Amino acid sequence: MDNIDNNNCAEGLYKELGISKLVYSFCDKILDELTKRFETIDRVSECNQLKVLHAMQKNRVAQMHLNGTSGYGYNDDGRDTLEKIYADIFKTEDALVRPQIMCGTHALNVALSANLRPNDELLSPVGKPYDTMDEIIGIRPSNGSLAEYGITYSQVDLKENGDFDYEGIKNAINKRTKLVTIQRSKGYANRPTLSVAKIGELISFIKKIKPDVICMVDNCYGEFVELTEPCEVGADLVVGSLIKNPGGGLAPCGGYIAGKKQYVEQAAYRLSSPGLGKEVGATLGVNPSFYQGLFLAPTVTAGALKGAIFAANVYERLGFKVIPDSKESRHDIIQAVELGTKEGLIAFCKGIQAAAPVDSFVTPEPWSMPGYDCDVIMAAGAFVQGSSIELSADGPLKEPFTVFFQGGLTWYHAKYGIMMSLQKMFEQGLVNV
Ligand SMILES: *Cc1c(COP(=O)(O)O)cnc(C)c1O
Repeated sequence: MDNIDNNNCAEGLYKELGISKLVYSFCDKILDELTKRFETIDRVSECNQLKVLHAMQKNRVAQMHLNGTSGYGYNDDGRDTLEKIYADIFKTEDALVRPQIMCGTHALNVALSANLRPNDELLSPVGKPYDTMDEIIGIRPSNGSLAEYGITYSQVDLKENGDFDYEGIKNAINKRTKLVTIQRSKGYANRPTLSVAKIGELISFIKKIKPDVICMVDNCYGEFVELTEPCEVGADLVVGSLIKNPGGGLAPCGGYIAGKKQYVEQAAYRLSSPGLGKEVGATLGVNPSFYQGLFLAPTVTAGALKGAIFAANVYERLGFKVIPDSKESRHDIIQAVELGTKEGLIAFCKGIQAAAPVDSFVTPEPWSMPGYDCDVIMAAGAFVQGSSIELSADGPLKEPFTVFFQGGLTWYHAKYGIMMSLQKMFEQGLVNV
């Protein structure tokens, strides 16, 4: 088939899937302008693919590593080899990669509570961390928080323009400062996502003041977006979730903690038990999906990134404020769009849901959720519950009605999801294409 036939074929299929001709051609024109950017993403993805492949070959991955263990999980070569592979990819001495780490929040909690002791202080030099960290730290009083163990917390906000407040950070570091937590992704906050280079600048500054402080990076949503990872620029620990980027959509659960050997070991003693550490922890049947997911992760992340950029361009062209904007360089896979109206937010999420491979026939409705002060709408039709490397969107029903969305296991699905969100808004008369 030549190009024209291909286009006609796609247009016809999109039509069958509910995308009108107007929406299709509006999006198609925008895509034409993104060719160069997508090429850059593909090159990064190619290098990261080679990095993953190289780590697998170097560690002599064999068929037997795909087997799992039961019970205590002693001598689980698949698990232990995968941890060496993660350490190679993230350029660290050691790694803990486990299905027993339940989510990103749990990984962060393990890393923090393992490496802090009573009377130590934790510092966030990049403003308030991700919401679920509030209760780990005790910013919101909570059972089992670090605060309950006598670990204090201090925070230095970013400056108005998004820069680090170096003066404030210098003043905040004291003799009790033991660990510094740096969140790479903006998450759902209103601040820029940090590039790996920026994280490096911050860490050098901090280490000059206090060389023995542990610098930990919350790497959620950032893995494989760039060519380098935070431990290459001085971080002592990186932490993330396997139902985001590095699980490649196949890992059914899990998290990782990678970094200096002593800090990773502490984390292992905390996750399992003093005396047991990394030696225990059955992998049951997850090894194949951890390995294969990691293998696919650079490609999957690239697809999600293309989706985010496509959406930024589509919605910016229609006059909405998008964060990051259509041209900005990217350091994570989250895209925010200020839709301005409740109807817009609901229509957007309905489109994402309607485009899903699972539960496409259900209609998301705003609902009250624990931890939120207003109703929230969520769209997700994922193979893995709550997986946000799969195409998903959510937003609180309050001004300025911002939708946060991320993921897409393939670029084509992300593309269709965004087109569908636009289609729903178009049908409601909320946009003019
Ligand atoms: C998702 C996320 C977390 C928490 O991960 P969960 O898996 O949802 O517990 C923490 N920090 C950041 C920046 C995240 O994006």
